[in-house]
Amino acid sequence: MKSITRQKPFEEIQEQLEPFDRIFIAGCGTCATLTETGGVDQVREMSDQLNELGKRISGTTVIPTACDEMTSEVMKEHNRAIGDANCILVMSCALGVHRISLYIDKPVIPALDTLFIAVEDTPGNFHEVCAQCGQCVLGETAGICPITTCHKGLVNGPCGGTNDGKCEIDREKDCAWTLIYNRLKEQNRLYLMKKYNPPHNFQVTPRPGVLKIS
Ligand code: SF4
Ligand code: SF4
Repeated sequence: MKSITRQKPFEEIQEQLEPFDRIFIAGCGTCATLTETGGVDQVREMSDQLNELGKRISGTTVIPTACDEMTSEVMKEHNRAIGDANCILVMSCALGVHRISLYIDKPVIPALDTLFIAVEDTPGNFHEVCAQCGQCVLGETAGICPITTCHKGLVNGPCGGTNDGKCEIDREKDCAWTLIYNRLKEQNRLYLMKKYNPPHNFQVTPRPGVLKIS
C-alpha cells in the first residue's frame, strides 16, 4: 500500500513559509520517493527554489519511512541543523508530517497534499482500492470497490451514462459497474446486481478514528 501525494502549488508553500527564514527540509524514502514528490531529487529541487527566494536551508534529509517510529532517530541525527532552523518543511504524506510533528517542537509545514492510499498495479501506475468508508460492500461487488472505482461512487449499479463498458466521466476508463457485472457473472452471482444497498452512511466512519484492542 502506498500513500499517494502531490506537491502543493509552490505559491502556497511560499505563503506558509513566509514567516520563516531558516528551513530544514525532510523528504520520505518510501511512498513520496516512489511517487517522485518527496525523494532525494525533489528535496534538492525544493532546496534550490527556496534558496533562490533568499531562504537559508539549514539542512535536508530523506527519512527512510517518514511515518514510522524510527523517524525520531533520524531527527536526532539532524539535531543541530533542525535546531538552527525555525521551521521544518516536510515532503511526505500527512502521516509523515504528523509523525515528525510529534518529535519536533517547531512549526512543521507540509509541502505535499495527501490524496489517497493505493496499490501499485504496474511500476509507476498507482490505483486507489479503498477509501476506508467504514461500510464495505466488496462481498457484493466481487471485490471491486464501487466507492473508489466509480467516478460517482455509486453503490447500486451503473448510472445512465455508461456506454460500451466505458465511464461517461472518463471514456478511457472502464465503467466500474461493468467490471463488477462481468466479475459477478463469472462467479454465477449476478443475482447480487438486484440487491439494494442503502445510501452510503458516512457517519459510520468514526471521527476521530480510534481503535482500542483490550
Ligand atoms: S466499500 Fe470500498 S471504500 Fe468502502 S471499505 Fe470497502 S473497499 Fe473500502
Ligand atoms: S459510467 Fe460507470 S463508473 Fe462512470 S460514473 Fe457511471 S456508473 Fe460510475
